[in-house]
Amino acid sequence: MTAQPLEFIDLKTQQTRLGDRIPRAIQRVLDHGRYIMGPEVQELEAQLARFSGARHVISCASGTDALVMALMAKEAGPGDAIFVPAFTFVATAEAVALLGATPVFVDVDPHSYLLDLASLKAAQQTATRNGLTPKGVIPVDLFGQPCAYTEINRFAREQGLFVIADAAQSFGARLGGSRTGALAELTTTSFFPAKPLGCYGDGGALFTDDDELADRLRSLRVHGKGKHKYDNVNIGLNGRLDTMQAAILLEKLSIFAEEIMLRDRIAQQYGKLLEDCVEIPVVRSGCTSVWAQYTITTAQRDAVAQGLKQQGIPSAVYYPSPLHRQTAYAAYPQAPKLTVSERLSTQVLSLPMHPYLEEDAQHRICAALRQVLQP
Ligand SMILES: *Cc1c(COP(=O)(O)O)cnc(C)c1O
Repeated sequence: MTAQPLEFIDLKTQQTRLGDRIPRAIQRVLDHGRYIMGPEVQELEAQLARFSGARHVISCASGTDALVMALMAKEAGPGDAIFVPAFTFVATAEAVALLGATPVFVDVDPHSYLLDLASLKAAQQTATRNGLTPKGVIPVDLFGQPCAYTEINRFAREQGLFVIADAAQSFGARLGGSRTGALAELTTTSFFPAKPLGCYGDGGALFTDDDELADRLRSLRVHGKGKHKYDNVNIGLNGRLDTMQAAILLEKLSIFAEEIMLRDRIAQQYGKLLEDCVEIPVVRSGCTSVWAQYTITTAQRDAVAQGLKQQGIPSAVYYPSPLHRQTAYAAYPQAPKLTVSERLSTQVLSLPMHPYLEEDAQHRICAALRQVLQP
C-alpha cells in the first residue's frame, strides 16, 4: 500500500489556518466596491514598505509587469545590453526582450546558483564587442536568497550600469541588516500563488528609495498618467494590482514573518537529513533565505524524481533548460562560458517546501530519496 500523496506546495493548510479572515477581507472589498486601486492597495503598499525597509512600494499586476515597468522606468531599449543570468525563470529575460533591449546571458555561481560577477565582467566585453551599450543588470535571487548585492552594486556603480533586483523568489530574505526591497536601487517581486508571499491570482510589486523613480513607476502603472488619468505624459500600461488581491495579501502578510521562520526550520531539517547523500543548497554567509524552493543537486536527478513519484512524492525541476538554450532566446549574446547553468539544468531537483510541511512527511521524502541513491 502506498502512503497518501504529498503536496509540493500546500496552500490549503495556510488557508485553513487563516480561518474566516480571507473571506471577510474579500467581503469588505465587495461591500465598498472599489475594485481598482481601492484602500487595501494603499494599505498593502504602506505595510510592504514597513516590512522591507524600502521608502516606496508600487504594487502591480505581476512579477513580470514589475520587471517590464522597472525597465521602462530605466528607459531600456534597442541597442542596450541588459545582463541576466542564464539560469532563471524566463520572465527575467523576456521583459528585456519585450522592450527591444538585448538580454545578455551571464553564468551563475556553482554553490549559490546566483549571478557570477566574473561571468558578468566577461559578458560585458561580449556585449561591447557586439556593438551594444551595457546599460543594466538584473541579478535574480534564485530559490530565495539575495544575490551578492554589495559587490554587484559596487561593480554596477563603477561601470555606470543600473541594477534591478529580481526578488520574485526572495521577498522577506535578508542580506546583512537589510531585507530584499532595500538591497538595490530598484527591486521587483511577484505574488504569484506559489511564491513565498503569494495571493490568489497574479500580483507583484516594485521597491525603491528614489522619489523620482517611484513617481515614474506610479505613472507607468496607469497608462503613463500625469496629473490625472486623462493626462498622458508617458507611454505606460495597465499594470495595477487588484484591490481583492491586496486584501488577501494583507491577511497573508500578517503571518509571513512566522512562515519565514517555519520555512527555515524545514530547510535546516532537510539539510541534516540529506547532506551526506546529495548536494544541499548553501546560503551565503550574512544572508537568510525564504526558501522559495529547496533545491538539491544530484547526478541521478531523473532517477530520484522518478523514485519519489512512485511513492507519491512530487518534485520539480527549476529549470530544465538554461535560457540560452531556449528556442526564443538562443540567438542572444552570452558570456563565453555558461557551463554552470548548463550543468545545473541537468542536476537540480526541488523538493516539497512550504511552511506547513510536517516532520513525518519530511522523513518520508528523505527516506524515499535515499532508497534511490543508496539502495
Ligand atoms: C515568478 C518569477 C517571475 C515572474 O513573476 P510572475 O508574477 O509570475 O509574472 C520573475 N522572475 C522570477 C525569478 C520568478 O521566479
